[in-house]
Amino acid sequence: MGQKDISTTANNSDSDNNTVKANIAFIGLGNMGAPMAENLLKAGYALSVYDLSADATQRLQQAGARVADSPKDAASDAQVVISMLPAGKHVHAVYLGDTEDGKVANGLLAELPKGTLVIDSSTIAAADARLVAEAANKLGIDFLDAPVSGGTGGAIAGSLTFIVGGSADAFAKAEPILAVMGKNIFHAGEQGAGQVAKICNNMLLGILMAGTAEAINLGVKNGLDPKVLSDIMLQSSGRNWTLEVYNPYPQVMENVPSSNQYQGGFMSKLMQKDLNLAMQTAQDANVDTPMGAKATELYGAHTVENGDKDFSSIMARYDSTVLSS
Ligand code: NAD
Repeated sequence: MGQKDISTTANNSDSDNNTVKANIAFIGLGNMGAPMAENLLKAGYALSVYDLSADATQRLQQAGARVADSPKDAASDAQVVISMLPAGKHVHAVYLGDTEDGKVANGLLAELPKGTLVIDSSTIAAADARLVAEAANKLGIDFLDAPVSGGTGGAIAGSLTFIVGGSADAFAKAEPILAVMGKNIFHAGEQGAGQVAKICNNMLLGILMAGTAEAINLGVKNGLDPKVLSDIMLQSSGRNWTLEVYNPYPQVMENVPSSNQYQGGFMSKLMQKDLNLAMQTAQDANVDTPMGAKATELYGAHTVENGDKDFSSIMARYDSTVLSS
């Protein structure tokens, strides 16, 4: 005895059952990572942070985090590592180093003690997540893929949805930490399952948004009022999330990007990224996704000019006048 147990819960202290809360290393402090890390600090976790951008780390330093000069330095006294990076290549670079074949070279994994819990919340291909997971498993490190849904608003509010892939034990350890940053925490299955579930959802969302825009445009071009048509479809069998809370036609709904020149929300280029990941996952598993392929094609063309606009701006593919409404 004598040795303290490391708990992942935030409300344990030295005097409480002889446990101390986990130290967390947080890597990637962008639009999503910075507010997520801030919520962990607010909940009382000790945080060491690393990002390539000095501006990004400065914000977290002001909030009380220790700024590290490398991922290894950030993880030097951490039992848990969380990453929120742009894409698969960045996740590979951080964890695996200069290798693309799943062998551990000079990446962070090789530096971590056995039993460290690694949670990658970046949205990346399931195959990329599995490659990192495999390398982690060989070293006795618990790896979870835990992509999120909910956007920057959810990250700030601590109300993200986490979709987690990995062992039940690792999930149980991660859950109290994820609960600080999110409201709904799903265990989707084994390693890689979090990424698969996330891109299934976002592929469906892309299809629904394009389909809804297409249907509204058909009605409007035939003389219907977009609000009247939307109300009818909302109470009929075409009802879906976009009609409920995110109508793509300007001024049908208040407080949505379509009524604010498609600013804010979820950028079309991020939807395009997720659709491409869905297509990659479909190809890897030899699964036919014709609707997903069409949505990918539509968003691919749309993002050339409108990548920074909310993804509901796909409405402009059917009626370009909406961009000036
Ligand atoms: P972002 O580009 O704002 O932030 C990424 C951060 O990672 C940047 O600060 C960058 O400097 C840092 N970074 C890049 N390479 C690094 C490295 N090797 N080491 C350390 N830091 C590094 O991206 P974001 O919007 O925060 O998104 C992060 C992830 O979350 C992406 O995978 C994205 O698809 C996903 N996501 C984003 C949203 C959203 O609405 N923004 C919603 C859901 C999921």
